[in-house]
Amino acid sequence: MFSTTNDSKPRLGILHGGGMADVRTLIGKSAGPTPASLLELIESGPDVWRRTTGLVEAAMAARSASADQRLEDIRWHAPIPRPRKNIVCLGLNYASHAAETATKIPTVPIFFTKSPTSVTGPYDPVPWETSATEQVDYEAELGLVIGLGGKNIARAKARDHVFGYTAINDVSARDLQFGHKQWFKGKSLDGFCPMGPVVVTADEFGDPQGKHISLRLNGETRQDATTADMIFPVDVIIEFLSRGMTIEAGDVIATGTPEGVGLGRTPPEYMKDGDVMETEIEGIGVLRNRLERA
Ligand code: MG
Repeated sequence: MFSTTNDSKPRLGILHGGGMADVRTLIGKSAGPTPASLLELIESGPDVWRRTTGLVEAAMAARSASADQRLEDIRWHAPIPRPRKNIVCLGLNYASHAAETATKIPTVPIFFTKSPTSVTGPYDPVPWETSATEQVDYEAELGLVIGLGGKNIARAKARDHVFGYTAINDVSARDLQFGHKQWFKGKSLDGFCPMGPVVVTADEFGDPQGKHISLRLNGETRQDATTADMIFPVDVIIEFLSRGMTIEAGDVIATGTPEGVGLGRTPPEYMKDGDVMETEIEGIGVLRNRLERA
């Protein structure tokens, strides 16, 4: 498991023995240059992943875990605090969510994006600019990070291109999303993309289509589903997205949300100041973000 974290400046960390180890400290300077961030590690390619993993495992085996910090003492950042490109998102990728929004089930993936500046940490408050929106909603989603770029990637090979998986809350300003016709603005307000708390590598995460996904609002379960219900699973998403279009290491994809959003309630019910969203993906962890009037 890799995460980006530190008290002041984001650094590359790894969950270890109930704590967080700083990868650079754990490996030591004698091992040569080590990636400073998760994005740098991912972009360095498989040889560096293997080398870094080997050095980390060797250090752990030698019990040189003096770098461990208690999880509660850490200032957590998003694993990729500033992606190089927009986050690619899937719209209406669960039949139950399409039904609750009275929308036809798509026959090809609906792609839209969120601005990189919308990304925020797993426990950060989500600022609510009331001058911009009156209708703030949540969307629990499985996120994936591309490890190996490519173009025209075959479905059978698609999962080999995934570095790892994370949790994303695709926070949405519904009035902007629909008012502007294109969804981009309503999905891209500052702080509207909580991400983390870690990225779990693909080998450790296993089958991405059998994971429990849920969201609690002020402790009450609002979304409760399985990623098995995706209309377009991860391999199909990558196949479609990469057809005629290059995807690159470090690209982040949010795979859509199941039913239970505020928009789908009768009447629609949007969040209020101080509401706390807990987004949970089995095998990854929980994002906990409080909506705070800015
Ligand atoms: Mg979404």
